[in-house]
Amino acid sequence: MKLSALFSGNTFQHGVHPHDYKGLTRHLPIRRLPFAPELILPLSQHAGKASTPLVKPGEEVVRGQPIAVADGFVSVPLHAPATGRVRSLQLMPSARGPKTMSLILQVYQGSSQKELYDHPHDLRQLSADEIIQAVQEAGMVGLGGAAFPTHVKMKPPAEQPVDTIIANGCECEPYLTCDHRLMLEQPDNLIQGLHLMQRALGVERAIIGIEDNKLDAAQLLQDYVSNDPTIAVKVVKTKYPQGAEKMLIKSVLNREVPPGSLPSAVGVSVFNVGTLTQIGELLPHGRGVIERVVTVSGDGVQHPGNYLVPVGTPVEFLLKQAGVVDAAHEVILGGPMMGMSIAALDVPVTKAMSGMVVLKKPEPDTERGKEQPCIRCGYCVEACPMQLNPSMLGMLATSADYTGMQENYHLNDCFECGSCSYVCPSNIPLVQYFRIAKSINRDRQETAQK
Ligand code: SF4
Ligand code: SF4
Repeated sequence: MKLSALFSGNTFQHGVHPHDYKGLTRHLPIRRLPFAPELILPLSQHAGKASTPLVKPGEEVVRGQPIAVADGFVSVPLHAPATGRVRSLQLMPSARGPKTMSLILQVYQGSSQKELYDHPHDLRQLSADEIIQAVQEAGMVGLGGAAFPTHVKMKPPAEQPVDTIIANGCECEPYLTCDHRLMLEQPDNLIQGLHLMQRALGVERAIIGIEDNKLDAAQLLQDYVSNDPTIAVKVVKTKYPQGAEKMLIKSVLNREVPPGSLPSAVGVSVFNVGTLTQIGELLPHGRGVIERVVTVSGDGVQHPGNYLVPVGTPVEFLLKQAGVVDAAHEVILGGPMMGMSIAALDVPVTKAMSGMVVLKKPEPDTERGKEQPCIRCGYCVEACPMQLNPSMLGMLATSADYTGMQENYHLNDCFECGSCSYVCPSNIPLVQYFRIAKSINRDRQETAQK
C-alpha cells in the first residue's frame, strides 16, 4: 500500500507546533552503555502500591531475577537489572520528589551480565487471563511516561467493550526519539506484543498511529503487516499533544472520549509502542523489565543518542556517558513539554523514563523567561486541546481559588500537556499552577473524606 493512503483525514482541535529537535538523535541506532557501579531501584516506579522486597541486604542476585513482588492487583514486581549484591534497602531521592524506599544493587563489574533467568512460555497455549498475568509478572508499566501498570489497562470495565487497540507511536514530545528507533529496529517485537494484546483483550482490530515526521517507521511497519488484515498503520499530523490518548483516538478513529472518561468509553485501548515492543520481547521468555531505551538529547549534550540502560542507572552516570560535564545546564526528565526539571542528579532512571533533555541555561540577567502579567491575548485558549480556558484558570490560581478552578473551569480535565504555557507570551507557568491546584484539591478531598 502506498504511504499516502495511510494518512488520516482527522485531527483534534487546537494544539501547538513546537520545534521538534528530533534531528539530533532520530538517525542514531540504539546503543548499549556500560553498567553503572551501583543501581538505585525504587520499589515504587509505577502508579499504585509499591512492590514488596524479596531480597535482603547482602544477598547476591542474578540479572533478571525477581527481587520484589507486586502488592495487590494495582502493583507490579521488580527484577534485578544486573548481577550483583544487594547493598541496602533505604530511602533514596526520586525524580517524583519525596524520598522513596529503594534497593541499592552493587553491580559485579566482572560479570558478563548475561540474563540467566528464563521462564519460557508457550505463547500459543496462554489464555487471555494468563497473558494478562504474564504481563503483570513482567513488571510491565506504560513505558511512554505514564508508569501505569499495563495489566490493569488490559482489563477494561465489562460494560465498556473494546473493539480497537491503538498502538501509540506518535512520540510527540520534542527531542525524544526512542520510540521511533524501536519501531525501526524492533518491528518484530512490536507486532508480537500487539498480537498478544489483541488476544488478551479479544480484539480483532489494531491500528498503529504514527506522526507524519516518522514516515520511515510508518512505511516499514506497513510493509511488515501488509499480509495481516487485523493490523493497520495510520499516519497522523505532527502536532503536539498528538500522543495524548484522547487526541490520538480522535485523529485515528474520529471518536471523542467524553471528559472524565477513559478510552474504553468509546471502545478503545491505547498502548505505547515501547510497552508493546517489550511485551513482545519479554513474554516468550517469561522475563521482566530490567532495561529501557532512553533518549539523551539537547544542546548541553556532547553525544546525544538513544541509549539502552539498566533500570536504576543513576542519571548522573548516564549524563556523564553522554558527555554532559558542565554543571551550567538545565536537566529535564522526559520531554520539555511534560517533563520536569531536576535540581539534583542522584535520582535513577525508572521504567517510565523515556528521555532526558539537557539545555544550556540562559545567560543570567536577561529578561528571557521572566513572568509578566496576563495580557489577555487568548493564545492559551486557542492552544488548549481540551477546550479549557487556561487564562482564567491561571488567574483563579493566583488568587488561590482552587475550588472555583474545578467547579467552574473544569481543572481536572487538564492533563498537563503544557501547550498553554508554551504559547504564553507573558511566560506565565500556567501548567505548574494547575499541577499545584490539583494537588491541593486532592489533599482537601482526602482530608474531607477522613
Ligand atoms: S496544560 Fe491543561 S490547560 Fe494547558 S493546554 Fe494542556 S490541557 Fe489545556
Ligand atoms: S497566553 Fe498568557 S498572556 Fe495570553 S491570555 Fe493566556 S495567560 Fe494571558
